[in-house]
Amino acid sequence: MRSINVAGKEIFIVQSHNQVLEAWRDSPGINVFSLDYHTDTKTAFHNYSYWRADSEIKSGRCGNHEERLYELTEEKISQYLDGQININQVNDNLKHDEHLDFAVRTDMVNIVFVLSTNRNASSSNPNVYIADGPEEYGHQRIIEFSPQCVPGCSKKTHGNECLGLRADSSIEDSFLLDAVSHAESFKSSFFENYILDIDCDYFNTEKSLHPENFEIFKRMVRNSRMITIALEPECVKICRHEGSGLTSEIVLNRLISIIEEIS
Ligand SMILES: [Zn+2]
Repeated sequence: MRSINVAGKEIFIVQSHNQVLEAWRDSPGINVFSLDYHTDTKTAFHNYSYWRADSEIKSGRCGNHEERLYELTEEKISQYLDGQININQVNDNLKHDEHLDFAVRTDMVNIVFVLSTNRNASSSNPNVYIADGPEEYGHQRIIEFSPQCVPGCSKKTHGNECLGLRADSSIEDSFLLDAVSHAESFKSSFFENYILDIDCDYFNTEKSLHPENFEIFKRMVRNSRMITIALEPECVKICRHEGSGLTSEIVLNRLISIIEEIS
């Protein structure tokens, strides 16, 4: 992780999204507003515990995969809370989409609101709530909000044209305002104390980085306690739209210049 100070604003930059935990761990009680292509809401240590349980079963050391997976995950979380392992050792066994669950389960942060492009119909993680889904809100601490299109689009199915419009509008006022209202509907004081977290793969077109109106984004930058940015260079290339030449460096440099202008 490296940190830079841009016009008085502390920005932490990491390669892999889970590494933001290094910056988040000193702000208990803070909320996180995350912009991401993916939702990153898998259960903590899922990959690590899955494969370790798998190998234990194959060697005859345990019988039930699901139970062992649960135990291994709980064990890792307890080890961190008891100070037996540090955040770098946590990250050694955490994938880049398992950190939000870890952050809320260890009370590192309070509520996480993820504005994502990817939309999940359901989640197997009990700590996750899908906004605008069929379920009632049960006070989960991770909220996924993944609108299919820009506010006001009346099309029944949102095709390629809508996908392009939605991507171009990533930080346009109308699009972000809708997300902000949703976040505040779950916790009215959400934006009194928050981290602005950005995965570079949230930006999929050149136009998305050159919005026409972005007062909401500016306010979000200005009022945040800190900004964390995950480069995820491979994801940027995979998620960008056809014809786009975006790279994580291009996204980062543009974000820094926006922050410089408005801070
Ligand atoms: Zn649409």
